Amino acid sequence: MEVFHHRREINQHITSLKKEGKAIGFVPTMGALHDGHISLVHASKQQNDITVVSIFVNPTQFNNKEDLAKYPRTLQTDLPLLEKEGCDMVFVPDEKEMYPEPDLRVFSFGNLDKVMEGKYRPGHFNGIAQVVTKLIDIISPHRAYFGFKDFQQLIVIKKLIDDCQYPVEIVSCPIVREADGLAMSSRNIRLSPEERKHAALIPKTLLRAKQTGTSVSPARLKKAVTDTINKDPHLQVEYFEIVDDKTLQPVNSWDQTGVKVGCIAVYAGNVRLIDNITFNS
Ligand code: AMP
Repeated sequence: MEVFHHRREINQHITSLKKEGKAIGFVPTMGALHDGHISLVHASKQQNDITVVSIFVNPTQFNNKEDLAKYPRTLQTDLPLLEKEGCDMVFVPDEKEMYPEPDLRVFSFGNLDKVMEGKYRPGHFNGIAQVVTKLIDIISPHRAYFGFKDFQQLIVIKKLIDDCQYPVEIVSCPIVREADGLAMSSRNIRLSPEERKHAALIPKTLLRAKQTGTSVSPARLKKAVTDTINKDPHLQVEYFEIVDDKTLQPVNSWDQTGVKVGCIAVYAGNVRLIDNITFNS
């Protein structure tokens, strides 16, 4: 496995591999890798000749300085893990390499970034678009892999790739969960043992909501999920929305056509966790 710190070097290397006809799969991450990330690596390895992972904690997507400062950085264990999993190349740029100049680009996603994560984390998706376009330009992969865990991010990135007309296939991978159902996240290691235990209520409540399904209105289900989680003194719901999987607009009636996804953000102490569940249509 080769580790690159400079965009020109990795770009040249990938350009020559592409000339040899190799298919390139790309998994962008912020490190502190867990089995969720590794599932993306496995998917890429199955579908491509070469798998490239990037590890970069992108400052422009953080609207909260403390969250950025406290974001776990575990490069010393990330690299051996990627090597063990058969990753071919890792791109580990520093901030200067990615942002030699401040990035002043402003992206527009219509209504997709006005709701949920976009509403509560202003500028978050603009920062994501800045880093993803830069990474796609550097790596120029045939396919890029994203987790369904960050459902809104996945939808925004699909729109970004379409708008920019990048010849890249976006592949979405299912949410990988801990044994008690908690969605794996780099932020989970910041939870206290008590918070970690209580955080399992999030997926449990989402699953129950899915089982309840259309027997109650979306509005009532929204309230039931929020109330159940807020009753736990360790947890505080920031939002729970049931949205259309294409427009991300709230669903008022189960009779609406299209797939519905319940998306949630919850604070466990100071740690912000997100999760989602797809309702049967
Ligand atoms: P991050 O390092 O948090 O930016 O995540 C990098 C990629 O891994 C994103 O596409 C995430 O959606 C994906 N990912 C993170 N957690 C999970 C998970 N539990 N299951 C599947 N994919 C995940």
